[in-house]
Parts: sequence; structure tokens; C-alpha cells
Amino acid sequence: MTGGSTLLAFDFDGTLAPIRDNPADVQLDRAAAALLAETTQMEGIVVAIVSGRDADDLTARVNAPGAYFIASHGLEIRAPGGVLVRDVPPLSVELHSELGREIAASGLRVETKKHALALHWRGVPYEAIAPVVEMFRSWATESHLDVIEGRCVVEARRPGGGKEEALRWLARAVGAARVVYAGDDITDFGPLKFAAENGRALFVASGERVPPPGVTVVGSFRELFRLIREEVKL
Ligand SMILES: [Mg+2]
Repeated sequence: MTGGSTLLAFDFDGTLAPIRDNPADVQLDRAAAALLAETTQMEGIVVAIVSGRDADDLTARVNAPGAYFIASHGLEIRAPGGVLVRDVPPLSVELHSELGREIAASGLRVETKKHALALHWRGVPYEAIAPVVEMFRSWATESHLDVIEGRCVVEARRPGGGKEEALRWLARAVGAARVVYAGDDITDFGPLKFAAENGRALFVASGERVPPPGVTVVGSFRELFRLIREEVKL
């Protein structure tokens, strides 16, 4: 890679915001908000938020007009100032009735996203609902959707996205000389590997995931933001 800029890219849930039982309750961490406000103003730094959330949802939670938003696992991309770079039509699928009944009876929550259906089980022991989640995975595969695993959530998503592909595209587009990425989940492993090869990969530890190779494991937001500040010499 050539050029002089550093691409500073962050996952959202679990990286810039503490995970909550209900994804609708998740809010940007205060120190993260301050870090974004400062880094998006810095010369030679390009900031990106990379998330599985819809772009509208993500931009409503993260007030960082100077950042790129890579949303819907790369299916939606907005440049600084909200400039539309990529969008694809919404997903329109329905669960078959047996699966719908099983999910309703199990107490699991289905979240309808712009490009995906997400099945959430945070707060419910996995063993209790494993057969229903397996049925959901099978339905997604049969429906030619991507199956994306998250922390206590699985998504059936319109194909064509991918955080790593989107991050690679952005790194090229902005001519990044160095890529720093922070994430906490399986869908971050691709971007983390790319960042480890081109800069630095920071992994937010949790009891739910084993860190991939090549990353710096951080135990708290405070530690993560300290390291990011070091990276950009704030
Ligand atoms: Mg996350």
C-alpha cells in the first residue's frame, strides 16, 4: 500500500459500545465518542465504523460526521458527510411457518434488519434453544442467504457483503499506508487479519470468543482507547 494516511477502523457493538441484552439499548461509549470526535479531525487519519447494523441505525448511534460508515456488513457504505457510496435493495424474505412457530414458542427474538433477519438469544442458555437456532441456520442456507455468527446472535443475510472486503476496498480507496482495526467477534476476524498484516489488530476480549492469532488482546475499553491514542499520537 502506498500513501501516507492511517486508516483507523472500528467495529461497533462490543468494541465502541458495551453489549446489552437488547441491541436496541446499545449506546456509544462516552470515551469512544470523544476519541471519534478527535480522530476524525486529525490530518492523515481516516476513521471508519464497520458494523453489521443498518446504516441508518448505526449513524443514529454514532455521531461522527467525519467518519466512513461501513454498515450491513459492507452492503451499505457512506463516506464522510453521509455521502452514499454503496447501497443494495432491502432483503425481502419470510420464515416458513413451522420455523416461525418454533421461534415464537422458544422465546427467541427475531430482528428484521434491512439486509438480514437476526435471531437473538442473549440471556437464554444456548442448549435450551440450539435445535431452533439450527433450524434457522438450515432455513437460511436453503434460502441462499449468508449465515453470519455473532455473540448470541445468528443472522441470515443477503449475500455480497463482508467486513473484510469492505475494509480492503476502503484502504485502497483512501490510499492507506497503515490499517488499525479493533473488533470483538468472528465477523471481525477477517478485518483483524488484514490489519495485522498492514498495521495493528486490536481484539476486545470477552468470555464468548477465543482471540484469533496475530492480534493484541485488550481487556477493557479504557485499554483499547489508550492504545488507539498511542497509535495516532494523541
Ligand atoms: Mg462487535
